[in-house]
Amino acid sequence: MRKNIVAGNWKMNCDLSMTQTLIGDLKKELKADYNCELMIAPSHPCLYPAFNNTLDTPIEVVAQNVCEHEKGAYTGEVSIDMLQSVGVKTVIIGHSERRDIYAESDELLAAKTLAAVEKGMRVIFCCGEHLEQRKAGNHVNTVTAQIEKGLFQLDTSQMEQIVIAYEPVWAIGTGETASPEQAQEMHAEIRSFIQAKYGDMTARHTSILYGGSVKPSNAKEIFAKPDVDGGLVGGASLDAKSFLAIADAF
Ligand code: PGA
Repeated sequence: MRKNIVAGNWKMNCDLSMTQTLIGDLKKELKADYNCELMIAPSHPCLYPAFNNTLDTPIEVVAQNVCEHEKGAYTGEVSIDMLQSVGVKTVIIGHSERRDIYAESDELLAAKTLAAVEKGMRVIFCCGEHLEQRKAGNHVNTVTAQIEKGLFQLDTSQMEQIVIAYEPVWAIGTGETASPEQAQEMHAEIRSFIQAKYGDMTARHTSILYGGSVKPSNAKEIFAKPDVDGGLVGGASLDAKSFLAIADAF
């Protein structure tokens, strides 16, 4: 069956020394066993040291973004090969901060996703509506359109490399969380959308994470919903105890 995943999105918060300190804290607090995969997403310059520092742990180091091009004159960009050369096997694509602040379009995100999947990467593909879209009753359409445009170019076997993160934009970094019922409603919609395109097996095997102010106090209730397979955690992942308490909610 599908995997439970708790992934920490560190965003642009940790330099090298903070990265190593936070990994050190995680190692001190780690239990022998979790009922979920653990991932952390440090900044690009810290990926390699983070990878080396977590080799003796179950924590996977993942990237926050990647370029859709293979190589060449793309100043400031980081390629899939570069990520793979430092041990990274999974990349987050389409976070709302990439969509909104850096104007990454559905087309660009589709190109990034395809390029990453073709190189054998696992992709955590983010989607989510803004508050106005929810208020207008367009939240499901917004999210399914993002998924259709970003992912539906993939064939059934490529979909095995996809994890979806539903992150309502109004809940990211705001302290406001979708209710467990709101999360479940959207996750079920996403799963049935995938089922209609790829069939039962793919729909049942695709992990769908919730993101948006997940914390130790709300994780259990959210993760208990049948279509919620974990969390993409921002703020609370910057504290080792909080992050691992969230992972412990499974
Ligand atoms: P948050 O961020 O947990 O701080 O709301 C989640 C995310 O942006 O992935």
